[in-house]
Amino acid sequence: MPEAGNCPADWRAKKQGGCWAETSAFKDEGPVRAYVARRGWLIDPRCFRDSRFSAGQMLGALTEVSRKINPDVPLSRGGCLATYNPDWARKLTAQVWSRRVAVECPAWSASQTPCGEETVQSRAFPRETGGENGPDHLIVLENVSPCLKSRNLGLPAFLFHEFLHAAGADSVPLSQHDDPEVSQYAFARDRVYGTEFLCFLSKAKVNAVQCREAVSYETAHPRYDLCRKGFSTDFTSNPPAYFLEGPGASR
Ligand SMILES: [Zn+2]
Repeated sequence: MPEAGNCPADWRAKKQGGCWAETSAFKDEGPVRAYVARRGWLIDPRCFRDSRFSAGQMLGALTEVSRKINPDVPLSRGGCLATYNPDWARKLTAQVWSRRVAVECPAWSASQTPCGEETVQSRAFPRETGGENGPDHLIVLENVSPCLKSRNLGLPAFLFHEFLHAAGADSVPLSQHDDPEVSQYAFARDRVYGTEFLCFLSKAKVNAVQCREAVSYETAHPRYDLCRKGFSTDFTSNPPAYFLEGPGASR
């Protein structure tokens, strides 16, 4: 567990992390001391005892997500949206605090629906709980192990994806987001997946439409020019699995 002192009572208002705070945000736990990462993520103490990843991996993954949305860290230094959509990056960075985003690690079972299936949200979709000062947006890690295997993009991309849901960035209905048989063209319009791919895959694996969905959101000055070179313009009838697994993939 991270060594750190207690947060001040008004840590959210002050946007002060890197400390421990009392919270009742997590299901079945009652009041507990939870770690507030420097950029605002509230972390369930059970995440630090989780056998699927180390405390360092969890903290490192959230640091990586914070870099991807940091408006001051360009693509060349491991950032992402500072380059592609700085207006949105500013909003997302503030939303970690304002939407009270927390990562919860409840007891889980390998028989729960794993990642990569059409019901992806049932084990990882952000859940809202009532708090004194508005809802907490929880990213709940249930049967998450399959999501972290190499054919997927790992813990940072997983947390980034779920955070975009928590931030309200969806562009398609969840039924379409969940449907592995949706056409590739429709899939490319899915902003949550598109932005995840833009920030975690090489350009050649990202469709130009996915790039355009990400650069045009929450800004009056979309940088469509950034989507012109290097991105895929392949539109076939391949299902979305094609994007991650390449030709011949089946699931
Ligand atoms: Zn999703």
